[in-house]
Amino acid sequence: LPRVFSGIQPTAGSFQLGNYLGALRQWVALQETAEAFYCVVDLHAITMDWDPEELRQNSLTSAAQLLALGVDPARSTLFVQSHVPEHLQLSWVLECVARFGEASRMTQFKDKSQREGADGSSVGLFTYPVLMAADILLYQTDQVPVGDDQRQHLELTRDVATRFNNRFGPTFTVPSVFIPEAGARVMDLQTPEKKMSKSLPPAGCVFLLDDPKVSAKKIRSAVTDTGREVVADAANKPGVTNLLTIHSALSGRSIPELEQHFAGRGYGDLKKELAEVVTEFVSPVRARTQELLDDPAELERVLAGGAERAREVAAATVADVYERTGFLAPG
Ligand code: ATP
Ligand code: MG
Repeated sequence: LPRVFSGIQPTAGSFQLGNYLGALRQWVALQETAEAFYCVVDLHAITMDWDPEELRQNSLTSAAQLLALGVDPARSTLFVQSHVPEHLQLSWVLECVARFGEASRMTQFKDKSQREGADGSSVGLFTYPVLMAADILLYQTDQVPVGDDQRQHLELTRDVATRFNNRFGPTFTVPSVFIPEAGARVMDLQTPEKKMSKSLPPAGCVFLLDDPKVSAKKIRSAVTDTGREVVADAANKPGVTNLLTIHSALSGRSIPELEQHFAGRGYGDLKKELAEVVTEFVSPVRARTQELLDDPAELERVLAGGAERAREVAAATVADVYERTGFLAPG
């Protein structure tokens, strides 16, 4: 079976629609045809300012949401990154293989360092893509299901893996990126030029765990475009196009079909119906997440089992890497 790895950061109390459509939906589907490793990447969640108690809670809530969305621990390995110290062991070696110049070209750092400036941002925010490369390469991953914003990081991962393999012999599988055709880049409802993100100001972000009334309000207030026709036109109608894309991805109806459906009707109708489609999708996910959080002992048991399985694979990769790179074996 092909190996699949992907991760999600516990940087908020809830995932958002883009996380689901761009990545998590594929996580669930790929379990059928691949051996999957899915990770709550808490080490990545401290690259920007964080609150320790919130982080702990968010990690648990993240794991609960993944199970609620259909990640099945009987088939896939679900774990928390900090439980598998091999991620950090490999990351250091890869930091010494990755080049400062290539890391400097990562646009996510440029975006995320805007608030604090490059000088005021953590070194971890800068080296984040190298830790991500370690996450992926540890598991000899064939495919990485992610949203479109991670394309550049995957390219870096492939470059670092190839460079390492050329220098030290075949060690890592060079992974390919798996980006869905629809929903790979869900845009913020208030700022349709920006992707929806769970750690940005929440007004334009639809969280899975939001009260459906709150989501409906956010959708009602979504920025739309001039004109009144409900048609997809990414260049001239980014707001409406985004709403149609979300509707289509969740309802399974094609965009032309939806354009037809809304012909002669206005943006208000689209928003009203989209709110209903979103509510229908999130309601069972919210209920199941809450149920799982009511029994954290069971959740922790699942994560402990996942970490144990992940460590078996990760430790073998680190042992191989340490051997090849010349570290003295402990006596
Ligand atoms: P943060 O603001 O903390 O970076 P995020 O919402 O970007 O949060 P991540 O944990 O960074 O979420 O990413 C998890 C997965 O969701 C990744 O595969 C990423 O590509 C995907 N993803 C994130 N935002 C979107 C989006 N707007 N559309 C499609 N996919 C997305
Ligand atoms: Mg992100």
